[in-house]
Amino acid sequence: MKIGVLALQGAFEEHIKMLSQLNAESIELRQLKDLQQDLDGIIIPGGESTVISKLLDDLNMREALLNKINNENLPVFGTCAGLIMMSQNTEDPKAVPLGLMECTAKRNAYGRQLGSFSTTAEFDGVGSIPMVFIRAPYIKEASENVDILSTVDGKIVAARQGRFLATAFHPELTDNTCVHKYFLDMIAENKQ
Ligand code: GLN
Repeated sequence: MKIGVLALQGAFEEHIKMLSQLNAESIELRQLKDLQQDLDGIIIPGGESTVISKLLDDLNMREALLNKINNENLPVFGTCAGLIMMSQNTEDPKAVPLGLMECTAKRNAYGRQLGSFSTTAEFDGVGSIPMVFIRAPYIKEASENVDILSTVDGKIVAARQGRFLATAFHPELTDNTCVHKYFLDMIAENKQ
């Protein structure tokens, strides 16, 4: 299994480590030509959605990335800023999303005091898992086509729409590989 990890900015190395623990191969997607490779899925990491958005445009990668995802029916997993990029609406003109999931992301949603925190919560189909939040978003509104996989304090922090998965937290910053395993299982399902 070969996963392209968008490596423009942010915590992409941690995803690569997680994937290697699960014996999945990773390819860093740094420039337009990297999108020509055969991939089974794509991860959009945490970082700053405004920066990732700008770099996608500056490097002329936005349209090619979207075409690859849509034409090749690729599963995508976004964490934190990755969730913001997967949404349809970020309520911030500087963070232009890819619009893969029918939801609105609220950026920096926990305020200054709660900018970063860890908790343990239930993730549908997986069980109770550790969650690390860093200046995290949550999903403010979602269409009925979006399955809610986890909530923390009544806020949606993980969701799936078909072959698209997004978490407001960073599973790659814990030692629990379950969410990445869940994504790899989604890829296997999607191929059938
Ligand atoms: N606050 C960041 C943003 O708005 C997300 C933080 C993260 O990815 N850890 O993009």
